[in-house]
Amino acid sequence: MLWETIIGMEIHAELETKSKIFCSCPTEFGAPPNHHTCPICLGLPGTLPVMNQEVITLAIKAGLALNCEINLYSKMDRKNYFYPDLPKAYQISQYDLPICKDGWIEIDVEGEKKEIRINRIHIEEDAGKLIHLEDEPNSLIDYNRVGVPLIEIVSEADLRSPKEAVAYVKALKAILEYAGISDCRMEQGSLRCDANISVRNHGQKELNSKVEIKNMNSFKELLKAMEKEEKRQLELYQFGEGHKVIQETRRWDSGKGRTIPMRSKEDAHDYRYFPEPDLKPIILQEAMVKEIGDTLPELPHEKTIRFKGDYGLTDKELEILVGDKALATFYEATVAKAGEPKAVANWVLGDLLRLLKEKEIDSYAIPVEPETLGSLIQLVDEGRISGKIAKEVFEEMFYTGKKPLEIIEEKGLKQISGEAELEAIIDKVLASNPQSVEDFRDGKKQALGYLMGQVMKETGGQANPKTAKELLEGKLSS
Ligand SMILES: [Zn+2]
Repeated sequence: MLWETIIGMEIHAELETKSKIFCSCPTEFGAPPNHHTCPICLGLPGTLPVMNQEVITLAIKAGLALNCEINLYSKMDRKNYFYPDLPKAYQISQYDLPICKDGWIEIDVEGEKKEIRINRIHIEEDAGKLIHLEDEPNSLIDYNRVGVPLIEIVSEADLRSPKEAVAYVKALKAILEYAGISDCRMEQGSLRCDANISVRNHGQKELNSKVEIKNMNSFKELLKAMEKEEKRQLELYQFGEGHKVIQETRRWDSGKGRTIPMRSKEDAHDYRYFPEPDLKPIILQEAMVKEIGDTLPELPHEKTIRFKGDYGLTDKELEILVGDKALATFYEATVAKAGEPKAVANWVLGDLLRLLKEKEIDSYAIPVEPETLGSLIQLVDEGRISGKIAKEVFEEMFYTGKKPLEIIEEKGLKQISGEAELEAIIDKVLASNPQSVEDFRDGKKQALGYLMGQVMKETGGQANPKTAKELLEGKLSS
């Protein structure tokens, strides 16, 4: 039997505002627990919320960037539920009239393009954060996050595999970052994704029970969690235990590598939504929406087209580069300094990305300046250092922040281009490898490679490869 996987995503993105949605507390991440709180966000009796104008602007911007229709009339609603992270015992959200609806984005999965529809985007406030310490009988609560503005972006169930779902989140994240809507730091929780996943027989019209999975804070975890859940459901159906797939919310436990039941999934009526009486409806003018649209910067798909045309990068290179705003910005600044778009791409996608991964540094904290990488590339170009030495210099730049010339001076890494100096070294290599010399003269051309290797070894990689090779060939054929 052929099975089909159906996935819809709900993505929460914290908006990049300075203050919270209904009060003037800062939204900055990383403050000591409960420092960014006031009577309004703590929901104390007698306080009233005031809508932060910037929240509306950013939500509209998100809608326009994601090809949505903007509702000129929308309103806030109360979603009632009790949980310790929600001091008011209700969340102010949007129910039947969200600010944006009916959008779409394009995703690219291994070269195959597909349009994914977005059902809606609504505005809401974030809840606090519960901290469960291992082996402690009590849980802790941090209310700094209460009232941080969020948008929730709900897709249609158009995704057909965990891979597509990851591609969707990546594409969405890039758009939100480029448009300055959210910083989308998954590890800090400013971008959170929940996946609704179900499986059904190919050709079956109705959907089977869907399971919502939560708590995945990296793309890797997201993919793993969805693949595990997909497999769990498939196995239950295939072994006649399909009734055990029920509508519920499951939490991804990355340590155990499996999803764990949290609660049976509530329906909308469980929340007893009603219009928020303390806030006016949001009424927009067409002109205002247009004005906001005009402030949208270059978005990822536009950048992809421009980079392809201007720099001749491959699709794979573009995918990695453009998919990461900070990396793309760094790339472009380096090209501006060094020229040579291809060489810069090799450095950025090669050594730079490798070191960032190794040291677990995010791309927005790249410890190298575009100017310094630019001058390193120029030094290689001018033949002042070899490509191999450049790699060594780059690592040093990455760790110390020093300039390339400084490192070259300090470590004595200048390239040896002087013919006399090189000739002496080559003579020495030839004298100590008579067998290889003989092999070469007998027609075994690969012996040249070996001898070149010896010259490089002898000079600690500092020989100018071009000059050295010419000299070596000259000597061997004389
Ligand atoms: Zn506050």
